[in-house]
Amino acid sequence: MTIIEKKPLLSEISNTFQQKHGVFKSFRLESVAERKTRLRKLRTWVKANQQAIREAMHADFRKPAAEVDTTEILPVLDEIKQALDNLDRWAQAKKVDASLTMLGTRSVIMYEPKGVCLIVSPWNYPFNLSAGPLVSALAAGNVVILKPSEMTPHTSALISRMCREVFTQNEVSVFEGGTDVSQELLKLPFDHIFFTGSPSVGKIVMRAAAENLASVTLELGGKSPTIVLPSANAKEAAQRIAVTKFINNGQTCIAPDYVLAHESIAGYLIKHLKEQIPALFGGTDKKISNSPDYARIVNEKHFSRLSDMLRDAESKGATVETGGQLDFSQRFFEPVVLSNVSHASRVMEEEIFGPILPILTYQSLDEIIQYINARPKPLALYVFGTRQAEITRIKKETSSGTVCVNDCAIQFLHPNLPFGGVNTSGIGKSHGYYGFLAFSNEKPVLRQRTGLTAFRFFYPPYTPGVQRMIGWVLKLF
Ligand code: NAD
Repeated sequence: MTIIEKKPLLSEISNTFQQKHGVFKSFRLESVAERKTRLRKLRTWVKANQQAIREAMHADFRKPAAEVDTTEILPVLDEIKQALDNLDRWAQAKKVDASLTMLGTRSVIMYEPKGVCLIVSPWNYPFNLSAGPLVSALAAGNVVILKPSEMTPHTSALISRMCREVFTQNEVSVFEGGTDVSQELLKLPFDHIFFTGSPSVGKIVMRAAAENLASVTLELGGKSPTIVLPSANAKEAAQRIAVTKFINNGQTCIAPDYVLAHESIAGYLIKHLKEQIPALFGGTDKKISNSPDYARIVNEKHFSRLSDMLRDAESKGATVETGGQLDFSQRFFEPVVLSNVSHASRVMEEEIFGPILPILTYQSLDEIIQYINARPKPLALYVFGTRQAEITRIKKETSSGTVCVNDCAIQFLHPNLPFGGVNTSGIGKSHGYYGFLAFSNEKPVLRQRTGLTAFRFFYPPYTPGVQRMIGWVLKLF
């Protein structure tokens, strides 16, 4: 596939930004009802163009229509629904109680839109990860410039068309293109930058944001460990791990990256994975390469990266338990399960972001807690098992963006949970109310009374009487 990049003129980027900056003055006065009207228009477009969205993603990486419906369209419709149902409450100024020293004051937290926001999105869930943050930005009352990924050109072109058809140029503009377009955008003094992508590019984004002291939300990636305790149901764990690892051809930021299975259960887990993978993705003849239910690797570069990773693991002693058939011309990469994997292999050192699943065994919980804590904090951590004491230890003694027990990835879909990483896997949260907050300035507004106030007793000059009063107040705390 040839990536055809659309390059906007630099002056076009800068003019669009200036125009958005100008119109935002009137946008900040808009009512919540006007924001909702915009979101309803977006919902109508998404529903009317479901087939076009499916076709764009099929053209980009043969993503199955059912996966487009469940992992791209449904989460966006749910974001819109959450915003429509709750925006009046989210956007309403919230009263806060006065503390002892604040007696006589009245305070609220106002939620004001941040202003002109930039959204830079990745290719792996190209519609969901562009339109989802867009919903949050619009719900919070912002104007937006969106840069979708150059790696999924059909979907990016469709997102561009969607925004032209649904929004005015004042509300939302889309710039398609690659790194150079992104870097031009990042030079501008946006009020907020919402970036989803790799940790290495996240650092570039944060550096650029620092030049303008723009706030950032960074939704990044990393290696998400999946622990299978001896108390787990091996068959159920295998099915759930296989679905979430191999859906989207393994190109999921919160996919189980590798498995740490207790040595007493690893053999059963592998046996069930061997059964589950063809049952889930094999289609009618159980041949995954013929199945319409299995997506493709996004491009040749990523295909080569993954096949090199697989070769590297094998050369360092890994056993291929199942899968591994590759067809470069079709970018078909069969699900692979590996055992006996060396820690020095690339599959254990880099985020895999593809359909290779290393299974490592462990003997004691101490061992795996130490292993996880010695590495960058993951975006997600999964545990399968029923022994509560062990689950609690893992939750308390490790740090990760999210945790899901007895399933993988579904925490992303829960509308009332914040989604995001920690340190190298991300900064800030998104989804639902948390997405609204990411794009809002929580502005405290305190109103002092007129006449005598509590603070009057602490004013200079600091006479013995004032000092006695201060001493008396300090004793209250
Ligand atoms: P990427 O970081 O390569 O690209 C993301 C975006 O940044 C694209 O729009 C791209 O054009 C732009 N970009 C790339 N290089 C740039 C540069 N040097 N300067 C400025 N902009 C640049 O990521 P990707 O390959 O599209 O996506 C895969 C990564 O994203 C994985 O690490 C994955 O874990 C992560 N991810 C995270 C989440 C999440 O929600 N936390 C979701 C999806 C993907």
